[in-house]
Parts: sequence; structure tokens; C-alpha cells
Amino acid sequence: MQLFYCRKCGAPLRKSDRYCPRCGTKAVDPPEMTEEAAREQIGILLEYINRKQAAQRQSDPNLRRRALELVAEIGASVTMLQRKMEIGAVEAELLIDWMAQKGYIARPDQKGWRVLFTPEQARTLDLGD
Ligand SMILES: [Zn+2]
Repeated sequence: MQLFYCRKCGAPLRKSDRYCPRCGTKAVDPPEMTEEAAREQIGILLEYINRKQAAQRQSDPNLRRRALELVAEIGASVTMLQRKMEIGAVEAELLIDWMAQKGYIARPDQKGWRVLFTPEQARTLDLGD
């Protein structure tokens, strides 16, 4: 893996190079990563992975069907789905987003979501996309 490059001519440098083998410019070590910076990078990566996994889980047909049934009975809310389904906030959010995208729920005003289907329809609505 190439770690750094000559700041003058752009030639690739090995970590052991004190001077650029092409132009002779003194090699400068890349700034060392602090523990804090490393933790931040790991945090960003973990969040990315969590979101990706949540996105996969929320596309499960059984989960979506159950969410539709609950929304038809109780109303569309992220916290309600979290509690009743024992899922994470991200998954619950993604499920609500998905319903809105499908046109199953609509947000008419500040009060919240309007549910546009009945409990009977919840059993037959399309679960794709
Ligand atoms: Zn150079």
C-alpha cells in the first residue's frame, strides 16, 4: 500500500525514504493520526455499517408487513414502531420513509402522518422497493 507521495514532484515514496528518489526533495512524514481522529474515523465507519445493515433489515417482507399492520391500527410513528417491533431508531425511520415513498402515508401538516390504508389493505399492500 502506498502511504504518501513527494510534495514537489508527486513521486510515490516508501515510508523508509528520507528523500524523494526522483527529485531529491526531503520527504515529510504524513501527520500522525491521533487517537481522537482514529476514534472519529471508526465512529463514522460504524455508523455507515449500521445504516447499511438497518437498510437491509427493513426491506424484509415480514418486517414490512408487520409495520404496515401496526401503522394501520395505531398510526404512523417512528417511536411506536421502535417500541412495538423492538427495532432500532434507524430501522423504524427507514420503514416510515419507505411507506411515505410508496404513498401509503402522507404528512398533511405538523400533526404527523396521515395513514392512507386500512388494516384490511395492510395485508395486501405491495412490499417491494
Ligand atoms: Zn520528488
